Amino acid sequence: MDYKDLADLIFPNAKDISYYEEKYPERNLKEGAIVTRIAPSPTGVMHMGGIYQALIAKTVARQTDGVFFLRIEDTDQKREVENGTAGIATACETFGVEPDEGRTADDKDKGNYGPYKQSLRKDIYQAYAKYMIAQGKAYPCFCTSEEIEEMRTKQENAKVRPGYYGVWAKCRTISVEEAAEKIKAGEKFIVRFKSPGREDRKIKHHDIIKGNVTFPENDQDIVIIKADGLPTYHFAHIVDDHLMRTTHVIRADEWLSSVPLHLQLFYEIGFKAPKYAHIAPIMKNDNGNKRKLSKRKDPEAAASYYDEVGIPELAVREYLLNIANSSFENWRRANKDADIEEFDFKLNKMSVSGALFDMVKLQDVSKIVISKYTAEEVYQKSLEWAKKYDKELGEMLADKEYALKVFGIERGNKKPRKDIAKWSDVKENIDYMYDDKFYGTKQEYNYQVINEKTDIDEILTKYIENYYDDNDDKQTWFDKIKDLAGSLGYAREVKEFKANPDAYKAHVGDVSTVLRVALTGRTNTPDMYEIMQVLGKDRIARRFEIAMNA
Ligand code: GLU
Repeated sequence: MDYKDLADLIFPNAKDISYYEEKYPERNLKEGAIVTRIAPSPTGVMHMGGIYQALIAKTVARQTDGVFFLRIEDTDQKREVENGTAGIATACETFGVEPDEGRTADDKDKGNYGPYKQSLRKDIYQAYAKYMIAQGKAYPCFCTSEEIEEMRTKQENAKVRPGYYGVWAKCRTISVEEAAEKIKAGEKFIVRFKSPGREDRKIKHHDIIKGNVTFPENDQDIVIIKADGLPTYHFAHIVDDHLMRTTHVIRADEWLSSVPLHLQLFYEIGFKAPKYAHIAPIMKNDNGNKRKLSKRKDPEAAASYYDEVGIPELAVREYLLNIANSSFENWRRANKDADIEEFDFKLNKMSVSGALFDMVKLQDVSKIVISKYTAEEVYQKSLEWAKKYDKELGEMLADKEYALKVFGIERGNKKPRKDIAKWSDVKENIDYMYDDKFYGTKQEYNYQVINEKTDIDEILTKYIENYYDDNDDKQTWFDKIKDLAGSLGYAREVKEFKANPDAYKAHVGDVSTVLRVALTGRTNTPDMYEIMQVLGKDRIARRFEIAMNA
């Protein structure tokens, strides 16, 4: 009896690996094309870290005409949540980081290298485990969990490294015959890798992000096939990333210390190892302390948060690229209107210790992103958001023609308005343009410099009676406000006022403020000319009337 017989006994039906090697050939891509993936476990809601990884993976694949795919790692079936796969695939779509191939939201496969869900690949893993057993590089282990527990206690007491290695690896030395007998007798077993490593030797490795790292060699005989017949993460990683022809494994840096094991597995099974890039987690400044962005503590850690508050996916992507490469900010300054896809992202320029995530900055980015949208886009996107989250806003937007006029104020020009960071800001941003909302709220008319009621009444009355005309162009409109100011004893120009403050009651800016406050209840608004154009003379007059009687 030899290793091959033992392998046949353990996995009698497993195919020869040549079958899979042919079925999943090398990809026919141009030189330098990166094939990469995200490989999340469907164990909960999608985290921002997942979107961050997907964006990075998608970006490097796109830049090199490569492939980005989604693999669902569901070998730990106890931790799986319902609709976990759909949640992941949908989040990728929502954030514009949809994979080129992989598992889809309706739990199907897209692409020729599937199945892209590990629980459906049991036969494949077993074929490769069989291949390793046949070469004497893996073996059945019959230790019970009690025995493993006992071993651990002994190791603790003896103050030696925990694990299944060297003299502790009991089943490693069982002869092929004895193992076969145990199996025939129905003893339960798992399959372990026979590590050729020595802990006192070092391996050097170059990680694309972390740089050169040195680790002790792996000497643990890790489990490759568990009691349920499914592989462990380590073995599935080797088999899948080989068969799916991954060139770059981009993953969380919690896996960095597993690199010696993974390289050893790749070497022993005889496959070329991919390149590795280990990403540091996204960090957050919590009262001066830098810590990981946490699903438990930070609402913004959940991918669903952005949909709920209405931050456009493009803003999230732009911000994530911004924290991924520090050169992004300068690039954006020099290329204000460029598409983010034009940014030359570099995996090896990512921060080793973790990028800082700042909601305030993300919202600033979002304001700029939204400022570049057309009125129609702002309308469509806020309506879509309102349908899900805000009935009242939905009703306000029912009159599309009017809403487009409102959203069109200071938009589409060189310096567009930047007052909307998220769709949940929209209502508050536009409500004064809606009469029922405006009159439905008690306005605090804060006129700033000019405060005498008689002065205010005089400005408002004279303006509407003698100066305002819906047909005026902006220059004429502004000249008329100057004329009004001059006629009532205010300086026509701010600089005239500054040169001779005692000669005037106040200046044209203060007069404008009176008009603005009476019109909107606010001291800060987008362009008043455009607001007046949208409201029209009758509504302006009515608003002034109400302000005078307030
Ligand atoms: N399933 C692993 C995880 O979610 C994947 C790591 C990898 O990308 O290889 O951490």
